[in-house]
Amino acid sequence: MEMNMMSERYDYLIVGAGLYGATFAYMAGRRGKRCLVIDKRSHAGGNVYCREVAGINVHVYGAHIFHTNDREVWDLVNSIVPFNRYTNCPVAVAPDGRLYNLPFNMNTFYQMWGVRTPEEAQVKLDEQRREARERMAAEGATEPRNLEEQALTLIGRDVYEQLIKGYTEKQWGRRCTELPPFIIRRLPVRLTFDNNYFNDAYQGIPVGGYNRLIEGLLEGADVVLDSDFFADRGRWEGMADRIVFTGRIDEFYGFRFGRLDYRSIRLETEVLEVANWQGNAVVNYTSGMVPWTRIIEHKHFEAFGAAVYDNQRTVISRECPAEWAEGMEPFYPVNDARNQETYMKYKALADREERVIFGGRLAEYRYYDMAPVMAAAMRRAEEV
Ligand code: UDP
Repeated sequence: MEMNMMSERYDYLIVGAGLYGATFAYMAGRRGKRCLVIDKRSHAGGNVYCREVAGINVHVYGAHIFHTNDREVWDLVNSIVPFNRYTNCPVAVAPDGRLYNLPFNMNTFYQMWGVRTPEEAQVKLDEQRREARERMAAEGATEPRNLEEQALTLIGRDVYEQLIKGYTEKQWGRRCTELPPFIIRRLPVRLTFDNNYFNDAYQGIPVGGYNRLIEGLLEGADVVLDSDFFADRGRWEGMADRIVFTGRIDEFYGFRFGRLDYRSIRLETEVLEVANWQGNAVVNYTSGMVPWTRIIEHKHFEAFGAAVYDNQRTVISRECPAEWAEGMEPFYPVNDARNQETYMKYKALADREERVIFGGRLAEYRYYDMAPVMAAAMRRAEEV
């Protein structure tokens, strides 16, 4: 966009063209507000951005599977782009060398213990959970104090050791005893033969990729890419009445209370001359000895059944977790006690801002999924 277009004044300057910023722009636009969206990357979409490689939409920043119970969000996204019927059913390669279905369900329990009925599985689970509860009680604890205790009381030692411990410790770069219990509560445990990773009513991937969704959301806004807010803060701030900030909250406040930690992912992407490499979109590697947490085979997000073979090539990405450092992409907030305490100091400042709205994973320092991020932006844009 030409700079002279930007001499006008906007109602909102939105810093960050990810899902929060794009959804806010869409909603505010529908209410007649003028929005300028800036992003330091050379593309919009934040981490849902896709790039076409070998005729396949590649999730450049790791697997993004849209799922929600929120009818309003589902209707909004479907009004912009149709969604396909993708259902996430990951498979795990465990340290014992065997394959297990995820999330934890009757298939997993059959593979782990040979149990065939919900009743048999329940007996096994109760036995393992009791052991974990007794161990905690001996230390005077009534509630799980960390992720390890949460996992042991939820699912027991066998599943914890094969499917959780190694994965979680490499994903977060911390011991399970140092991580908050809520991270593992995301995963369902069920006594049915149901491999659907999510419990939500609606799930899918936009037909043609996520860029279509983002383009639709940003249609009514002015968008300027390759522009770092912090490189020219005064000028950007002067261009609108209010600001929606979706970047790192610690950076917004000049790190005055110290830096927040993030986890990052390095994606190693390869084009392979085979039509179907792993037979599934997501395969987790739960051993602490394998450097990646999962391998994604992108075509399975959008081609099902025989259509997998329409393209004789495939694209895979290994997701290798890493501690975040300046210059890398911050993917996940690390909501341990120290970081949470630091974040609350920043949040107290943010709560007092009259001109600035903070939203999304980085600005709210919250392990948000896509649909809740959109719901939050929709609600916020309706308040203003
Ligand atoms: N998790 C695990 N084993 C797995 C998959 C997930 O222990 O095979 C744990 C791990 O702690 C992870 C958390 O569950 O951080 C949440 O997993 P999810 O797949 O929801 O993570 P995301 O897709 O957001 O990275």
